[in-house]
Amino acid sequence: MDIGEMAALAMTKDDTQCPFCKSKSKAKPKLEELELVNDSSKLAGNSKPKPKKKIDSPPCNADYLIFEDYWKGKDKSEVVPNAHHVIPGNAALARTPKVLRWMAAKVSVKKVEKGATVSKTVRSKAKKQSAAARKKAGKIGGKQIVDTRPLVEDKAGEIAWTVQGKKIDRHYKPVKDDYVFGIFYDEFDINLRLNNIWLPSHCAIADWTAVKRKPAWHMNQDPEKDKPIPFEEAYAYNAMEVFYTQFHDSHGTYSKEVVKQLKKIDAKLTESAKKCLQHPNTKSKKGHYPAPTNLIIALRKLSRLTKDKLDIAKTFPEHPWYTSKLALKVSDKYWD
Ligand SMILES: [Zn+2]
Repeated sequence: MDIGEMAALAMTKDDTQCPFCKSKSKAKPKLEELELVNDSSKLAGNSKPKPKKKIDSPPCNADYLIFEDYWKGKDKSEVVPNAHHVIPGNAALARTPKVLRWMAAKVSVKKVEKGATVSKTVRSKAKKQSAAARKKAGKIGGKQIVDTRPLVEDKAGEIAWTVQGKKIDRHYKPVKDDYVFGIFYDEFDINLRLNNIWLPSHCAIADWTAVKRKPAWHMNQDPEKDKPIPFEEAYAYNAMEVFYTQFHDSHGTYSKEVVKQLKKIDAKLTESAKKCLQHPNTKSKKGHYPAPTNLIIALRKLSRLTKDKLDIAKTFPEHPWYTSKLALKVSDKYWD
């Protein structure tokens, strides 16, 4: 049984408990509107404290820069992870109208990304760390870096992070009107702590693209003896070794898999809805059901089970549950 089915079953554990008959939605249909907001800064705010860990910067045959905010010494940077929506609001939930339609008559998902914190980080000073500098302590200079790349959105609906400027991005994904009446849970919030996992990323490195594929060594290799590996693998290895959660950048496959699992919840609800039409005192009419009560339980369970897939202490990265191709690669190549 996969995790979507497990989450769906949590809704109807007791067969006598029909999620539609149990619904608090009034017998007299009332069409409600629900707006879900996908906001990473709220997610982070709800999930404090933010863990911070020092990682060894990979020894590398090329110069690279670490932003001052993350600089902890000539051979160490502080990796500050990002808040990650375990069930992505925009990249998964908003793309699953089959689940949204059970929440209220009209549901939209709004994505809010405030550029201010990103901008501050991008504009902060970066320190140069080169092979020579590491050998000669005290000769590490500061340098002003400003990244001016525009904000772009990838296919999975993720915001690309190395950006400048203030940007609030909104996506509306309304679902078909009046499939259900009432509202499934009026305080449902995708930015709650339970839907967060802190995942390390490459935000400390000033120019990640430039340093990719440069020869480097991860923290458990010996530059004197071992063959070098690509820098990005060494960095992801170190971050994962220290945090013991997956490395994080773009993850279209992961988001698609969450959509697939969400659809299992819809399948179960559809089945229960059909059964409900036969129940005595049912408030359901075909295509016009009271909002089911237990959908929140299924979503919470799906979030918890998905989180376990990203926690290396519980599961090593595996297809399709990876939040970066690097997480999968590092696990396959360097961990047994
Ligand atoms: Zn029923």
